[in-house]
Formats: sequence, C-alpha cells, structure tokens
Amino acid sequence: MDERFIKRLITNIRCGVCGHPYNPENINILGHSNDLWFLNVFCPNCHSYGLVAAVIKEGKSPEVITDLSREEYASFKESASIGADDVLDIHEFLDNFNGDILHLLGEG
Ligand SMILES: [Zn+2]
Repeated sequence: MDERFIKRLITNIRCGVCGHPYNPENINILGHSNDLWFLNVFCPNCHSYGLVAAVIKEGKSPEVITDLSREEYASFKESASIGADDVLDIHEFLDNFNGDILHLLGEG
C-alpha cells in the first residue's frame, strides 16, 4: 500500500492527549505486517509523541489499536524522554548482568 495513502488515512486520527488531528509530516511509518501498520506520531499542537498501531484495509477507515489510555498518554507526555545516557546505562548494566534475576529483585 502507498505510504502517502497511509499517512492521509492517519490524518483522520486525533491526538490522544489534546484531540488535535495529525499532519502527514508528523507521521513516521515504522513498518507493517500485512494490514497491521505501526506508526510514530508527533502532535504539532501539544508536542506529545505517540506510537500508533492501526489495521488498515483498502476501502475501509483505519482501526486504531493502542494500549495507552488517555491518562497514560498524559502521564507519558510529562515524563522525560529517553536520552543517549539512558541507553548507555542499560548497555553497561546488561554487560555486567550475570542473568541472576532473583539477585536483581533483591531476593538472591
Ligand atoms: Zn496533541
């Protein structure tokens, strides 16, 4: 399916936080598996980011699937974004991690 067509369909979806419609330039297509498409969206109005999973079939309006509630959207919007330092921290942690999950949970 044509990506421009997908983006045009997604502009019918509104931001989960403020209800503003998305613009095609704020939609980034991550990939798809058959009719299930994954998209990154950015709201130009409230500046929140979202991950959208949508079932898109030709001739039908897209069915959006997300496991985030409006409240969760709002709370993630307030939280700090993940930076390079966070990724490095996890990388170092996994390098040193010996796989002992009980120790990790303080029960070892
Ligand atoms: Zn918004």
